Amino acid sequence: MASDKQVTFVIVGGGIAGVTCAEQIASQCPSDEVYLLTASPLVKTVTNFKQVSKTLEEFDVEEQPSSVLEEKYPNLKVVQSAVKLLQAKEHYLQAENGQTFHYKKLCICSGARPKLLTQENPHVLGIRDTDSAQEFQKRLSKAKRIVVIGNGGIALELVYEVEGCEVIWAIKDKAIGNTFFDAGAAQFLIPSLEADKKDRSLPCKRSRYTTDKTAAGHSGASGELGSALGPDWHEGIELRGAVQNSSGIHIEYECEVEKIYTQQEFLESKLSTKKSELGVWPAYVQLTNGKIYGCDFVVSATGVVPNTDPFLSGNNFELAEDHGLKVDDHMRTSEQDVYAAGDVCTAGWEPSALWQQMRLWTQARQMGWYAARCMAADVLEEPIELDFCFELFSHITKFFNYKVVLLGKFNAQGLGQDHELLVRCTKGQEYVKVVLTGGRMVGAVLIGDTDLEETFENLILNQMDLSRYGEELLNPNIDIEDYFD
Ligand code: FAD
Repeated sequence: MASDKQVTFVIVGGGIAGVTCAEQIASQCPSDEVYLLTASPLVKTVTNFKQVSKTLEEFDVEEQPSSVLEEKYPNLKVVQSAVKLLQAKEHYLQAENGQTFHYKKLCICSGARPKLLTQENPHVLGIRDTDSAQEFQKRLSKAKRIVVIGNGGIALELVYEVEGCEVIWAIKDKAIGNTFFDAGAAQFLIPSLEADKKDRSLPCKRSRYTTDKTAAGHSGASGELGSALGPDWHEGIELRGAVQNSSGIHIEYECEVEKIYTQQEFLESKLSTKKSELGVWPAYVQLTNGKIYGCDFVVSATGVVPNTDPFLSGNNFELAEDHGLKVDDHMRTSEQDVYAAGDVCTAGWEPSALWQQMRLWTQARQMGWYAARCMAADVLEEPIELDFCFELFSHITKFFNYKVVLLGKFNAQGLGQDHELLVRCTKGQEYVKVVLTGGRMVGAVLIGDTDLEETFENLILNQMDLSRYGEELLNPNIDIEDYFD
């Protein structure tokens, strides 16, 4: 017989946003019962959290059994079952295992899934969670050529890591890594793609997460609901194709996928191409620039779609253009007492001039943590201000084995022509770019061990007028820290 629970707080999702939210609310409200409902068998916990500077943070992520959380917080219960129904007006939630809940406050942290080029095409793969990464590895081990579509972080890492397989990388922009970089930074990184693996720079320290291989084999109830992977998702997974020696990367710029054919469809098509010249492949990709490539399979890394499906029917959620649950500056959705955090939500407040939402690991943690504080404050009818972490966009990551720090409007987002760029580049070593508007620094890209992050973060936060320094700002012979101390 299904039980009907009356609970103060219910959190949905065992990714970084949900787990951080559940932990925070459980510790802030020790006398209230907290339920964490998740479709995946393991939960993601943040460990070794380190505040690198005012806004930059680093942490490790570990996939752990849910018992770890329950042992740590006596008032926190984890239920491994996907939510299948929400009646927001009634504050009622139903899980696939039949359990039902009446909550006071609910926080949806159900993440996002890859936006696939086409659904249900066996030759198209998306990479999202441990299961899909393992499927990718399996298919890659037999592949001689793959086509990668997309230009975000996942595509960047993927094309860099794959060995022993030819990679055709189709991007719609003029330069690689458009989500994170401008053409200059892309130029700086290209030689790393072309270098032999053994010649590549040594890895630098970066967050990593571990997966429990025994448990990772079981996916969530629907088989598609695992947590998103994160930095170093390819660590411990050998991404090697079927060709003995490295087979190189070929980039097709400014194009998209026109059509993907199965072998049969291709042979039967009326395409004017000399079909025999393209060889025999399981799939063929026709690009908008007219080129056609045969391949073993296609990796679709073209962004994500928020996982909102089970929550929408019968409710009145306001959705953003990207289909995320729109949240206000208290992480509240448009349905009363329903909050959302992480990849599933879209920030609907008027953002600070130096912050933008990006569906990243760090923001999932920050939003989960802040949503919990907002829920607690709202229950206690206490005021709460938008957290300082939303003042300045900041992100530390690693691309092509270089440390990468992104600050503020690092790509001059939303600035139109109204900005100036200063760039310093030492081939194979570092790339530094600052974005200035009205003589004030509003963003920076730091690739390599530049050691400039804290100083630049301060200059961005204090909005000091830097006009009189001009290009001296990036003069490598000047110790910039002394300059401004
Ligand atoms: P998720 O981690 O996706 O967690 C969602 C949770 O909700 C899961 O536990 C899922 O099981 C559960 N769930 C879903 N639906 C339901 C339901 N109906 N009922 C119950 N539970 C449900 N970010 C970075 O910052 N740096 C990187 O280098 C980086 N690399 C990435 C590489 C890959 C391959 C991918 C896929 C993502 C990467 N990201 C990276 C993005 C980062 O992983 C995500 O932004 C972050 O994990 C989002 O966390 P989340 O908690 O919002 O969602």
